[in-house]
Amino acid sequence: MSKFVMIIFGASGDLTKRKLMPALYSLYKDNRLPEEFSILGIGRTDYADDTYRDYILNELEHFVTPAEVGMKEFCTHLHYLSIDPAKEEGYEMLGKRLQEITGEKAPDNLLFYLATPPSLYGVIPLHLKKAGLNRKHTRIIVEKPFGYDLKSAQELNKIYASVFEEHQIYRIDHFLGKETAQNILAFRFANGIFEPLWNRNYIDYVEVTAVENLGIEQRGGFYDGTGALRDMVQNHLIQLVALTAMEPPAVFTADNFRNEVVKVYESLKPLTDEDLNEHIVRGQYTASGSKKGYREEKNVPADSRTETYIAMKIGIDNWRWSGVPFYIRTGKQMPTKVTEIVVHFRETPHQMFHCHGGHCPRANKLILRLQPNEGIVLKFGMKVPGPGFDVKQVMMDFSYDQLGGKATGDAYARLIEDCIQGDPTLFTRSDAVEASWRFFDPVLRYWNEYPDAPLYGYPVGTWGPLESEAMMHEHGADWTNPCKN
Ligand code: NAP
Repeated sequence: MSKFVMIIFGASGDLTKRKLMPALYSLYKDNRLPEEFSILGIGRTDYADDTYRDYILNELEHFVTPAEVGMKEFCTHLHYLSIDPAKEEGYEMLGKRLQEITGEKAPDNLLFYLATPPSLYGVIPLHLKKAGLNRKHTRIIVEKPFGYDLKSAQELNKIYASVFEEHQIYRIDHFLGKETAQNILAFRFANGIFEPLWNRNYIDYVEVTAVENLGIEQRGGFYDGTGALRDMVQNHLIQLVALTAMEPPAVFTADNFRNEVVKVYESLKPLTDEDLNEHIVRGQYTASGSKKGYREEKNVPADSRTETYIAMKIGIDNWRWSGVPFYIRTGKQMPTKVTEIVVHFRETPHQMFHCHGGHCPRANKLILRLQPNEGIVLKFGMKVPGPGFDVKQVMMDFSYDQLGGKATGDAYARLIEDCIQGDPTLFTRSDAVEASWRFFDPVLRYWNEYPDAPLYGYPVGTWGPLESEAMMHEHGADWTNPCKN
């Protein structure tokens, strides 16, 4: 096998310094990169190899805490080529540079990582093809968002299929790289006790929440053209729905797993006009105290209608889930940062005990906490010690802390390592991307067609528009709002 080279397009950007380089460094430190490897950064910014190494070393010292040994040695594996990835002429130079780095005439153990703005995702593979760099053992990782809607995702898929085989294409969704997301599968399928209950007969409804307490930071230009649906829902949230709802594959292989994911997407109950009107709540954060509202953020138009919050009720039309609503929500500037899935079991048919403090814990709740405070909590009723038969809700609580520091390892490191080893399980396949967009496309079309469709304000630091509570009340429920961390 020839020498391994990872080529990062967008090497001067935010993702590279905050996520990719720390992930690669952690793989290096743990001897999990190929023995002979180089990393070639590509960008228009003018660096030479040594100035790029200095820049990355500086960033690693900032982002890897506490500082660890070996960073300087790691940086000796870095190279840089200053070209504009949008323009064809630079790719001949790229080919030559790869020959120099590897000392090989046609190196093909290459991994391209596209960490540029999405507008370049369709251009770069075509230039790679023209330059003959789409070789047999070459792989390509593409950052999200993969497409802007169904049509653009289909077009991108066509471009990629014209350059690479599907097994060479790795559409990354870093949520799937998280231990806690993967553990949903282990929790469900490595245990006998929950799976028999995991269906419409015993589950009343499911909540999937991924919210954060930050705004859009310096990314106004990017975010305003994207919004919460494209940024979070079409990829991350729906992946979590799939992990929660999928059938167990007979054998755990990449294709079997991804087939089951696609089956969930294909079972999503198409959104009706009623759903579009009543079961989707979009919001935008507004100023509160000293905190700016979304429309006051840098590079955001003062009349922007981009959603920073969205809550939806969705259904899955299959034997297991028919009639069980999945409530999903994401938002910026919420009271806390949390990603969790809450499974609400049906109530006991009859309550014969007294309720402690007036609160009757008739339904069990299972909380799969993906971040932070990673863990699993089961809520159930217990007799309060003493006379009589008062019952109160208590918790059975597992925390990942119990497994030691590595248990919540870095998602990017896991995914890059999987890609190097040729394991696509945790990456999104072309049919899954399209099936997901097919489901959400009507929402985008509806907002486009009815620009005056409601967009509710919510003050920074609150749990989103009150209308999203009203949507839950229809089911006789409230959102499970975790306390501040
Ligand atoms: P970024 O900082 O805006 O851009 C990355 C690099 O792309 C820039 O440093 C720039 O390098 C190059 N670039 C920008 N505009 C260009 C243009 N018009 N033509 C050619 N090159 C251009 O982006 P990022 O935050 O690193 O994110 C990269 C990708 O990852 C995005 O698609 C984003 O959606 C995705 N992503 C990011 C994060 C994150 O945390 N940042 C998380 C998940 C996904 P030069 O000026 O040197 O060419």
